[in-house]
Amino acid sequence: KDFRNSVKPNWCPGCGDFSVQAAIQRAAANVGYEPSELAIISGIGCSGRISGYINSYGFHGIHGRALPIAQGLKMANKDLKVIASGGDGDGFAIGMGHTIHAIRRNIDITYVVMDNQIYGLTKGQTSPRSAAGFITKSTPGGAIEPSLKPLEVALTAGATFVAQGFSTDIKELTAMIEAGLNHKGFSFINVFSPCVTYNKVNTYDWFKENLTKLADIEGYDSSNREMAMQTVMRHEGLVTGVIYQDTETTSYQDKIKGYSELPLTDIDISLSEDQFDQLIKEFM
Ligand code: SF4
Repeated sequence: KDFRNSVKPNWCPGCGDFSVQAAIQRAAANVGYEPSELAIISGIGCSGRISGYINSYGFHGIHGRALPIAQGLKMANKDLKVIASGGDGDGFAIGMGHTIHAIRRNIDITYVVMDNQIYGLTKGQTSPRSAAGFITKSTPGGAIEPSLKPLEVALTAGATFVAQGFSTDIKELTAMIEAGLNHKGFSFINVFSPCVTYNKVNTYDWFKENLTKLADIEGYDSSNREMAMQTVMRHEGLVTGVIYQDTETTSYQDKIKGYSELPLTDIDISLSEDQFDQLIKEFM
């Protein structure tokens, strides 16, 4: 399966988003999807362009609204595999309400966040993921607020799959996206995807020095939510790997009677003229 298309990404050379794109393409191929079975829904930001760079269905939505569109799509067509994606500004600022509710709803889609701790598309402003003291054009005296903690938020909101990757480790990133695609329920994957143009603090070297792989922590058990939360807090969120997975909880779709029988898109809802007139009368 080839998920590459002929569109050349216009991300800056060295942007972490290139690796996220490659990892999504490899993971989708490894899981065995056909391009016609997959839809990538993105929000606004540099990372939002990803939906146009992958050979699948794609929808470049509006700011912070990738998840509502992705969830609606999945509800309308159960046979479609759906990935929502966007940046940390998109998903953790304007889109945060949707992120929390999609997580607790446990709808069967995968959400990949390209987290570069800055707004890149608008040329470098502080994002909810920027650390306190972070200096940008929007916070020349340093960010006053502390950084949002997406892993803790996801675990607290009842996530059944939480993972975090780093752009340079495509092998690990591909494996976790693959695991997320195979997960029955909502899979939340945060990816450290450096903005080489505007974020001169959280660079590739910075992440290499500060990240810990969960695979290197002896006895780490990704089925233990308490251990996941304690480990994330102990490492200040700077871990990579599958942090938590609950394979027991039923997905949103599986709780709906009849959902698995026929995609809504295949149900004939055409009305005769009389039926249509009758329907209109009911609303008059
Ligand atoms: Fe990537 Fe930053 Fe360039 Fe945007 S501005 S494409 S996030 S490196």
